[in-house]
Amino acid sequence: MMHFVGVDLGASNVRAAVGDRTGEIRATARARTPAGPTGAAVTDAVREVVTAACSSADVDPTDVAGAGVASMGRLDLAAGAVASAPNVDADVGPIRLVGPLASLLDLDRDAVTLRSDTQAGAVGERFHAHPDVEDLVYLTISSGIGAGVIADGEPLTGRDANAGEVGHITIAPEGGMTCGCGREGHWEAYCSGNNVPRFARALHERDPVDTAVPLADEGFDAADVYAHAGTDAFADRVLERVTALNVRGAAAVVHAYAPRVLVVGGAVATNNPETVVEPIRRRLPGELVVDAPEVTLAELGDDAALAGALVLAIPDADRP
Ligand SMILES: [Zn+2]
Repeated sequence: MMHFVGVDLGASNVRAAVGDRTGEIRATARARTPAGPTGAAVTDAVREVVTAACSSADVDPTDVAGAGVASMGRLDLAAGAVASAPNVDADVGPIRLVGPLASLLDLDRDAVTLRSDTQAGAVGERFHAHPDVEDLVYLTISSGIGAGVIADGEPLTGRDANAGEVGHITIAPEGGMTCGCGREGHWEAYCSGNNVPRFARALHERDPVDTAVPLADEGFDAADVYAHAGTDAFADRVLERVTALNVRGAAAVVHAYAPRVLVVGGAVATNNPETVVEPIRRRLPGELVVDAPEVTLAELGDDAALAGALVLAIPDADRP
């Protein structure tokens, strides 16, 4: 039997899966992503988790036929590394992935495929939930916003796996909220899990109405806003603004990539499908000059990128 390895390197956790050429996962392992101090420390953690997953699957690492890596951060595909990972630590430096995994698994470098986590998520959702769909976009609304694109049956990578950085589409040209990247009016500055609370506070400052939303609490987060949907007028006003901007962003994505299916995932969406996904499904067609895609909730949840990384490890010729 042929064995393959998938890795999902996130800011909080690193996970590895071992599977066969059907993409079925046989064993997994996980660890906390170390917060530095160096990229080498993160690389070591990745190697350890891969070794643990192999051991749990009773597979010798040198018997693995290919590996796929889904990663957060800004990628350098030529170097096979994460160039910078501000979510882990601003000073962590490059995290080498392809070379060290190739040597651990005794593979050629080109048998190790590195992609962004959203790109891998698109591959995972398509493989497991929409295998017959040639044109699909996987949109994640979580701490940030991003997309993975499958066009004409092929995952779109772009320079250094940057295709699909849709969270930085300008959806509010008049500005008002500053994105984590420092620019005004970007989609995720309003609608990501990290920024819905900031947006809510900004709206409340402009118009301080009575509300049960705990705006002043230290731990105030997006879930607090969504929890008051339908019961608090201020929460509904915030969420109406967020929804309108989500629809605007989703329309830009559909106009750019023409998907047949728009899969919406990420914690903000999967925790609030009725408040996040349903309005996009209902209102998107009215914003489009092209045929509306089917809008559907992601099925794999947190496992999309890991499952996709495993699929990316399997050469087309070896797939069943
Ligand atoms: Zn931005």
